[in-house]
Amino acid sequence: MGWAIALQGGAGDIPLSLPPDRKQPREAALRHCLQIGVSALKANKPPLDVVELVVRELENNQNFNAGRGSVLTSNGTVEMEACIMDGNTKKCGAVSGLSTVVNPISLARLVMEKTPHIYLAFDAAEAFAREQGVETVDANHFITPENVERLRQAKEANRVQLDYTQPITGTAPKETSAPKGDSQIGTVGCVAVDNMGNLATATSTGGFVNKMVGRIGDTPIIGAGTYANSLCAVSATGKGESIIKATVARDVAALMEYKGLSLKEAAAYVIQHCVAKGNAGLVAVSAEGEVTMPFNTTGMFRACATEDGYSEIGIW
Ligand code: ASP
Repeated sequence: MGWAIALQGGAGDIPLSLPPDRKQPREAALRHCLQIGVSALKANKPPLDVVELVVRELENNQNFNAGRGSVLTSNGTVEMEACIMDGNTKKCGAVSGLSTVVNPISLARLVMEKTPHIYLAFDAAEAFAREQGVETVDANHFITPENVERLRQAKEANRVQLDYTQPITGTAPKETSAPKGDSQIGTVGCVAVDNMGNLATATSTGGFVNKMVGRIGDTPIIGAGTYANSLCAVSATGKGESIIKATVARDVAALMEYKGLSLKEAAAYVIQHCVAKGNAGLVAVSAEGEVTMPFNTTGMFRACATEDGYSEIGIW
């Protein structure tokens, strides 16, 4: 048993031809955030603090679809969501519909710690942010030129809501695949376990480009995009509607709990058999210090490290 950490910066149809100016900053950010997480674990910070710290850093990085880099709704606004969960206690907190909060993940943690509830959304979540004195900015701060352009492209490509590609066929349940091209910049997430087996997970997102106002995805839904218990911690990414239907994060834990599968087996099963190809990826760690990062999309921005010296940063 040893510490382990994994992070994700979104899964989807990431073209192999991704230009260096889009690839390099994201790889550098993953490396930087991994280093922050590893240092925190080595300094014996609790995994809950570690995942919050790493996700805050990813939220502050405009190259990912969370916090400052959040993509825009069909109205050109930002509606951010986030979720955090502690494995041993199963305490959790979630937020949706944020438009001014700089670090949604920290507000999710405050929901967990300072309210009798789990999930606050929209105006009430914004009011709670002000009551708690977390950092907020004008909503325009999040509306970056890159995301205005992504929204323009998405609207041009598909005037109906989300910029999905055509349904794919195959043995998996029929679903549409994740959005294509540059509109696909990713949600962020981090899972961590310390060398006592304490687990935590955190996920944060702006959702999908051109999403309907009020749409809630998998990220803040416990058991869908985010879940941790005493066996594992999971953070998923991809098409939220598919991840919710497949209860992706909870199914990984359930296969370990009820079927005795290892972390790798459970996560691989869920990604291969429970959610349609092209729709999802996840990062997960177990109480034993194992790590896994499967995806059924073209790629997933990801990074991990374990106490025994293993480390990986990857996209495809
Ligand atoms: N899962 C996120 C959502 O559907 C999107 C992503 O992972 O990139 O909101």
